[in-house]
Amino acid sequence: MRQLKAGGCQVIPDAPEEDYPLDALVINTCGFIHDAREESVNYILDALQAKEEGRLGEVLVMGCLSERYKKELEKEMPGVDAFFGVTDIPLVAAHLGVSYDPALATERVLSTPAHYAYLKLSEGCDRSCAYCAIPLIRGPHRSRPMNELLAEAGHLAGQGVRELILVAQDTSFYGLDLTGKRELASLMEGLCRIDGIERIRVLYTYPQGFPLDVLRLMAREPKICQYVDIPLQHISDKVLTAMRRNTTKAETLRLIEDFRTFVPGLCLRTTLMVGHPGEDEQAFLELLDFVKEARFERMGAFTYSREAGTYGAQHLKDQVPAKVKRERYGRLMELQKGISFAYNQSRVGSVCSVLADYLVIPDSGTVKPTVLGRTQYEAPEVDGFVILEDAAHIRPGSFVKACITKADEYDLYAQLID
Ligand code: SF4
Repeated sequence: MRQLKAGGCQVIPDAPEEDYPLDALVINTCGFIHDAREESVNYILDALQAKEEGRLGEVLVMGCLSERYKKELEKEMPGVDAFFGVTDIPLVAAHLGVSYDPALATERVLSTPAHYAYLKLSEGCDRSCAYCAIPLIRGPHRSRPMNELLAEAGHLAGQGVRELILVAQDTSFYGLDLTGKRELASLMEGLCRIDGIERIRVLYTYPQGFPLDVLRLMAREPKICQYVDIPLQHISDKVLTAMRRNTTKAETLRLIEDFRTFVPGLCLRTTLMVGHPGEDEQAFLELLDFVKEARFERMGAFTYSREAGTYGAQHLKDQVPAKVKRERYGRLMELQKGISFAYNQSRVGSVCSVLADYLVIPDSGTVKPTVLGRTQYEAPEVDGFVILEDAAHIRPGSFVKACITKADEYDLYAQLID
């Protein structure tokens, strides 16, 4: 988007249908699992419909889905003007008449609200989880040089970004391919020194070899959110082995103990998978017991889907019927509901620093405007909001002090403190 803008294009980061007519729509697709692919395909079909009705010029498709299934998509969707892979940004720019300028590589046009941004640390993944197609699509892990990331973060701070959210396929692997050492903590320390950046949050870590120096830093550095997102997928040794996760139940329990010891009050988010081949009822009950014990402050779950080309799809026979997968998903989420509710309730009465994200002005004049914000314990998009009442004067992007007054299982409600 930054390249196109520099080349004289007017760029709209997110284009809902009412924004057509556009000269061109670039659709960035996901090819991770069945549901994501379906969402991408439906979006392309809607765009092609708009093109046919004359409400849209060119339709360009890029990202994981078109990297992996380019030939098939070209055949099935002849109305798409061009397909590009995940690293084809210069080609997309050229197609739109803009020549790519490497000097702008660390500059960004944000698709998030102006005060927070995702910072991508690396591309690809060296793991070989049995269910996952990402290494097939994105290739091996390549860390971005630290000076490039610090430069990009500096630009973002200059644009008004106050919270950085670190992402990658595996953030805890950062640096290993550059220096032979895990460098996530050093990178975070460098980011803390950037003026204007007030919060740094890390998502998508991996349990095996988790760098404990990140926890030490988190405990002492106020800019680092006391929040870790660590998709654990399962706890049964039998299932972890089938998943090729390269870790065990004992190691996982030890790591959770470390998290709780190093950073008391830490908000731990995990993602689990149900219905992986080989997950029998006993293994699933083990997972339920684990969730009851570990009491993750936040948890999400997926059902296993067979992804073409993965080890699981090619070699694992012991498939779980779709109905059982759905039923296990329901039982797991029901259990977590109570845990999340209890966690949110335990925060009632606490005073916290809230970053205001959005001002919501309701259609009806009888309902008061509210501000939706987040503390260090809420990540955007995946966690709930802190809903600030009587705060219509607060500008999105500012930090305010508030006291939590009530809570449900997703959201918290708070009053401003002067
Ligand atoms: S670590 Fe994540 S991205 Fe890498 S193979 Fe496993 S699930 Fe896929």
